[in-house]
Amino acid sequence: MKAMVLKECCEIEIPDEPRRIRDLPLKTEPLEKAELPEPVPDSEQILVKVSACGICHTELDEIEGRLTPPRFPIVLGHEIVGTVEAMGPDVTNFKVGDRVTVPFVGGCGSCYQCNTGNHQVCDHQSQPGFTHWGSFAEYTKLDYADVNLVRLPEQISDETASILGCRFITSFRAVVEQGDVKGGETVAVHGCGGIGLSAIMIAHALGARVIAIDINEEALKKARGLGASDLIHASASRDIVGEIKELTQGGAHVSLDALGHTETCFNSIASLRACRCAACPAGNPPQAGARTCCSEISFFMPSIRRPSSASSLITSSLIWAGFSSNSFDFFR
Ligand SMILES: [Zn+2]
Ligand SMILES: [Zn+2]
Repeated sequence: MKAMVLKECCEIEIPDEPRRIRDLPLKTEPLEKAELPEPVPDSEQILVKVSACGICHTELDEIEGRLTPPRFPIVLGHEIVGTVEAMGPDVTNFKVGDRVTVPFVGGCGSCYQCNTGNHQVCDHQSQPGFTHWGSFAEYTKLDYADVNLVRLPEQISDETASILGCRFITSFRAVVEQGDVKGGETVAVHGCGGIGLSAIMIAHALGARVIAIDINEEALKKARGLGASDLIHASASRDIVGEIKELTQGGAHVSLDALGHTETCFNSIASLRACRCAACPAGNPPQAGARTCCSEISFFMPSIRRPSSASSLITSSLIWAGFSSNSFDFFR
């Protein structure tokens, strides 16, 4: 089969933006075309013929060595849509020809984390393009197939479906599960790339008022089109946090750092509404699920470097939640 292979970490040369930060080979085309043997599925695996594959910032992180795969060479690619070509003997839920996709973190389905609905932190997780060869190829093998694969309805195109398993389902977990957003609440989304725009769509669908923040005018226009009612141009604003607090008369109920930068992380925490419940005194940790007691925060990268933002988690009784994609969410 034909595939694109990454043989080693290297930095990508971007025209007009030299950013050589480590002593790695600098390349314009880090992936090499290769002819590889077609994979053969084991017991719980399915072989998928790839029909579409998204491209993700995760691949840039792998190429540049911030997320190093366990071994090289590797075929990247985890935003997969394709048809079932073959399967191992223990797969029971799918048949050849089914059109499917997967979350980018595949759970084993039998560990403690999976049994409690948290496949995204499975002790034995599988990630195409990271733990094994992925979908920048004609075919790819997917682990724990019965647990993770999702059959696609006809009305969703391959291209649309390819983005569901990474950015969209990650945002779904953030907004619905961790943020527990409800109609009428205010959600601030810092960064309007793939994850931020997905979060805006989901929060808007839940009936929340969404404030979108970005430095890019085009991204803000897209945010408006997907349901953001308030826009803040981050480059033009002198006080992003102040603007959000004024718009919301005290702060957002849920705030997302959808970029993973020190600045957006700080702004995300600082723009939250403080503890709203007199029955939640300082020193008492908020109870799990005590949604009415505390404002909440969900964000992506643990990039807090400013002490003031970390201490505000405590002083304002906030919940700081991590999240990732989850096969469990697909079935909802
Ligand atoms: Zn991705
Ligand atoms: Zn598991």
